[in-house]
Amino acid sequence: MNHVEPQKVLIADDDPINRQVLAELLKPEYTVLLAKNGEQALERAARHAPDLILLDVMMPDLDGYEVLRRLRADPQLEQISVIFISGLARPEDEAIGLKLGASDYITKPFNATVVMARVALHLQLVRQRRILERLAHVDGLTELANRRRFDEMYAQEWQRAQRNGWPLSLALLDIDAFKQYNDYYGHPAGDRALRAIARTTAAGLRRPADLAARYGGEELVLLMPDTDGVQARHLVDDVCAAIAALEMPHAASQVSPVLTVSVGGATLGGYGPESAAELFEAADEHLYRAKQDGRNRVVWRGLIGG
Ligand code: GH3
Ligand code: MG
Ligand code: MG
Repeated sequence: MNHVEPQKVLIADDDPINRQVLAELLKPEYTVLLAKNGEQALERAARHAPDLILLDVMMPDLDGYEVLRRLRADPQLEQISVIFISGLARPEDEAIGLKLGASDYITKPFNATVVMARVALHLQLVRQRRILERLAHVDGLTELANRRRFDEMYAQEWQRAQRNGWPLSLALLDIDAFKQYNDYYGHPAGDRALRAIARTTAAGLRRPADLAARYGGEELVLLMPDTDGVQARHLVDDVCAAIAALEMPHAASQVSPVLTVSVGGATLGGYGPESAAELFEAADEHLYRAKQDGRNRVVWRGLIGG
């Protein structure tokens, strides 16, 4: 389970001997990818998402500096770490490379031990950055996206929906009588139930752009871009059914003998909230109504004609 995948290093150099020497050096510890020019480097980077690129500066057509500029201009590739390996040994050359955003600059002829040490150092930093990104965006208990991640994605998807005239659906899901559940079964059991509901909710998503997040406490939020009210309502009904089908007993509940959820949903498209906050408020109001109406139900607005 704890098996760690080897990190991926892309070597981009027009000189076959350099490529081979570096590849032999790195192969025992890393997954090595090769590119013999700048175009190939960009193509391989996009396709394989390497953790690090060892990038030659002087290459015909697209030189290393230009490759790095293009990487940094592409939201999918901008994070990739780059070490220049170059025959250009003047301090000015090194300064250009570092200013463009390279992590390091190694001059040729290179020393194998030093290359290995620097590669290891920068890959370690990549690992640490990934851990921090994960901590910043993932909820530790449920492993769903956290509130911060949701806020970012919601702002982004709201913009996208406005721009393209697409619908956007939002559902707030709150566990029913969860305080009683904790009181009756204990807080650790409550944590396990929350995790099971989170997992089941995430499993119900259908498209890569759909997002399930823990909004707070025992409240989850589903963000469904380019999804109209009818489609979203179907998805949410299926999620609620899947949660009920877990049949987690809740002997202390007045609502149902098993754990259930209430959901408030709203869709941009069927009617016109003016802002992301307004759409969110609409979903929140509907959640309140679902609770008022007796819980274990979905209340939605933004269905066609609704
Ligand atoms: P309602 O049906 O109106 O939603 O009632 P409720 O009891 O679920 O709502 P209330 O807001 O009164 O209580 C929420 C409970 O959820 C209280 C809190 O201890 C529990 N809770 C929130 N986060 C966690 C958590 O991470 N783990 C556990 N075990 N319980 C949590
Ligand atoms: Mg609740
Ligand atoms: Mg709540």
